[in-house]
Amino acid sequence: MLYIGCHLSYSKGYEAMGRQALDIDANTFAFFTRNPRGGAAKTIDEADAAALRGILTDNSFGKLVAHAPYTMNACAADENIRRFAREAMTDDLIRMESTPHNYYNFHPGSHVKQGVDVGIKLITEQLNECLKAEQTTTVLLETMAGKGSEMGRSFEEIRAIIDGVELENKLGVCLDTCHVWDGGYDIVNNLDGVLEEFDRIIGLDRLKAIHLNDSLNPLGSHKDRHAKIGEGQIGADALIRVINHPKLKNLPFILETPNDIEGYAREIKFLRENYSD
Ligand code: FE
Ligand code: FE
Ligand code: ZN
Repeated sequence: MLYIGCHLSYSKGYEAMGRQALDIDANTFAFFTRNPRGGAAKTIDEADAAALRGILTDNSFGKLVAHAPYTMNACAADENIRRFAREAMTDDLIRMESTPHNYYNFHPGSHVKQGVDVGIKLITEQLNECLKAEQTTTVLLETMAGKGSEMGRSFEEIRAIIDGVELENKLGVCLDTCHVWDGGYDIVNNLDGVLEEFDRIIGLDRLKAIHLNDSLNPLGSHKDRHAKIGEGQIGADALIRVINHPKLKNLPFILETPNDIEGYAREIKFLRENYSD
């Protein structure tokens, strides 16, 4: 079964996202748990969350992949930014229990000249503070393009973060195709090799979701500019191989391509036409 969707806006609430997903033939989606640029989250309307849960069950949706705000930087040098990151993640994980047993993806952060080792230490400290044994959500570390001092640029860095976390059974990884490509992993010519490397270093059982994006820039560019499916340097053929790969084909795929809702609907249709069960 192909589980595919895109980012949807939470501004009209949970049920509205479920209905919009159905409209565009999506059976998973991503949403920002709060304004992606930061700030307070709306209070949850329990009836609205229940309506979404009904839609998800009735339509056999795959796991949702919520996204933490971009401003969350667990390994910032500024203590106030780190405090925001912790408070937002703790609050988000409580909110996620309104849609239990799904995924919550976050960018590991940027170490801003403190160095990779300090970055890893600060990220693991945040996770050790925020993860709770009773949560039903799996928190996903997103593989990053390695722009500036961005952490999570290599499978080794992701592994080092996981190694420092006590409740590591609450942790998984979300692989972003644009980011790994920009990070130097050749998913166009050597998808099997990249997945073998992922398995050797992190373990494929950790891989819980895919952000399916084309990239404007060449392999190893460390840029992070997403392109529409087939309009970038990865190309449609390689992305079709990604969704059909036996080790990936049952994961939730989230489009983060530069599109309006009609554009997402077209990409979902195109990918469904090119998927074999
Ligand atoms: Fe992301
Ligand atoms: Fe992403
Ligand atoms: Zn990106």
